[in-house]
Amino acid sequence: MGKGDPTHIVHGVSFIRSGSCNRCGICCVDENCAHYAVVNNVPTCKIYNNRNQPCPDHGGITHSVCVDFPNHPWLKVIKNSECSYQFTCLNEQETEKFSKLNTAWQ
Ligand code: SF4
Ligand code: SF4
Repeated sequence: MGKGDPTHIVHGVSFIRSGSCNRCGICCVDENCAHYAVVNNVPTCKIYNNRNQPCPDHGGITHSVCVDFPNHPWLKVIKNSECSYQFTCLNEQETEKFSKLNTAWQ
């Protein structure tokens, strides 16, 4: 969830991400994730710095999908703009790809 990131490729579409994270928690895979907690009224990942490490609470899998944000969840974060970051298609070609995906997934 860094600031001023360059290009993000999400489902094959390249976006420029700008803005900042307001820690709404929407991009968490699941509010029922064992590592999700609300601390001082702020959604918090308790393993934020270790998400790419094997997780003993989940049979040794990693939570690297959470590192690769915003690959998941696309619908809320990018398509429906519920995230406080802005995602701008890199160019006209990427805008066309994004439009086709949105149409296909309606
Ligand atoms: S959806 Fe966006 S604003 Fe909300 S926690 Fe994730 S990165 Fe931050
Ligand atoms: S592991 Fe992923 S889904 Fe779970 S709280 Fe952390 S960021 Fe959210």
